[in-house]
Amino acid sequence: MAGRVDLDGNPINPMTICMIGAGGFIGSHLCEKLMSETQHTVLAVDVYSDKIKHLLEPTSLPWNGRIQFHRINIKNDSRLEGLIKMADLTVNLAAICTPADYNTRPLDTIYSNFIDALPVVKYCSENGKRLIHFSTCEVYGKTIGAFLPEDSPLRQDPAYFLLSEDASPCIFGPIEKQRWSYACAKQLIERLIYAEGAENGLEFTIVRPFNWIGPRMDFIPGIDGPSEGVPRVLACFSNNLLRHEPLKLVDGGHSQRTFIYIKDAIEAVSLMIENPARANGHIFNVGNPNNEVTVKQLAEMMTQVYSKVSGETPLETPTVDVSSKEFYGEGYDDSDKRIPDMTIINRQLGWNPKTSLWDLLESTLTYQHRTYAEAVKQAMSKTTTN
Ligand code: NAD
Ligand code: UDP
Repeated sequence: MAGRVDLDGNPINPMTICMIGAGGFIGSHLCEKLMSETQHTVLAVDVYSDKIKHLLEPTSLPWNGRIQFHRINIKNDSRLEGLIKMADLTVNLAAICTPADYNTRPLDTIYSNFIDALPVVKYCSENGKRLIHFSTCEVYGKTIGAFLPEDSPLRQDPAYFLLSEDASPCIFGPIEKQRWSYACAKQLIERLIYAEGAENGLEFTIVRPFNWIGPRMDFIPGIDGPSEGVPRVLACFSNNLLRHEPLKLVDGGHSQRTFIYIKDAIEAVSLMIENPARANGHIFNVGNPNNEVTVKQLAEMMTQVYSKVSGETPLETPTVDVSSKEFYGEGYDDSDKRIPDMTIINRQLGWNPKTSLWDLLESTLTYQHRTYAEAVKQAMSKTTTN
């Protein structure tokens, strides 16, 4: 830890970071990294702390005193500005960010991703504080290639699908496809932050995560989250595997995604935190272009990996098709393909992801099996007895 230097060889001074949404999936990994590898202090703001309780409770931990939890709902708490003022940097992760909510709770989604983020931007700008804001790859929406005929050879040309921060358009579906409420709110807050930078000198960095996955992502329905809840795909498929049910492929599972291991992605965020001169004023894609699969391929790989880590034989029919209307309800729509252009982050921060899809699934499913298998078994036996 001693003698840490930035990418330009300058010593890194300890800073105070106000991390909003610190109790979530990404926040928990970022807090872990900051506590174990740096001397920075974290003012952790969230309404939940379960995912960071291992960092907060024992006073004997070596970072005792460097992380403080503030149970604050940023919608309506006057303490927020004070915390931002106390910090050198604010990292805003707070959001409703589960696709099952976008078309069923569009108002909450828009308020959470735009209105609730407004005061954070305003306090940073007014108090001359640096901001790292979490947006999403979903601001790109659909690829240009999605509008070409299925058999068009142009679909293979990267110009029609590669998503670049400074060149690709943002292509959303019609208003009645409420799926796009999230992407649109995130796009507007990005534009506002960019404008604060241009007109008022706000020092900002915008992060666009491309399907970061790993331990502690979302919840297993009925175990550590609502039984009717629909988390993101990793937790949906883990839940199916833990319950020995077929994995549900929405509209055939043809959509394509690139998945990145959370620990690789956190490395990129850490470089942004500690290299302000290289990160300020930039929007960064953070993903792993080498880990592209269709959702169907993801289901097949997860089935194989889960069998390896649990020792259980896969089902004879491991997947089942379900329509998006049945699975998500009216107003769902999908991004067809998401491959990040890595040019800008590579140039500014020299960062590249490392972990293959197989390896990241193996470590994540080992965690899921260890954490949840027994609880799921007990919950299922209770249901059968009742
Ligand atoms: P998460 O849901 O695990 O974490 C979000 C956290 O914010 C939660 O702990 C939640 O309690 C907190 N929060 C929400 N509203 C709040 C409020 N009003 N006051 C206080 N706390 C509040 O999600 P995550 O995967 O960790 O995502 C973090 C950020 O990254 C989000 O902005 C999300 O849009 C963005 N993102 C993540 C991914 C990904 O791959 N995980 C992809 C795209 C974008
Ligand atoms: N999906 C699926 N089965 C599930 C959950 C999700 O086929 O049980 C699909 C979903 O329709 C989308 C992809 O998996 O095409 C990724 O969904 P996720 O919820 O992780 O978020 P997204 O990448 O769309 O933001």
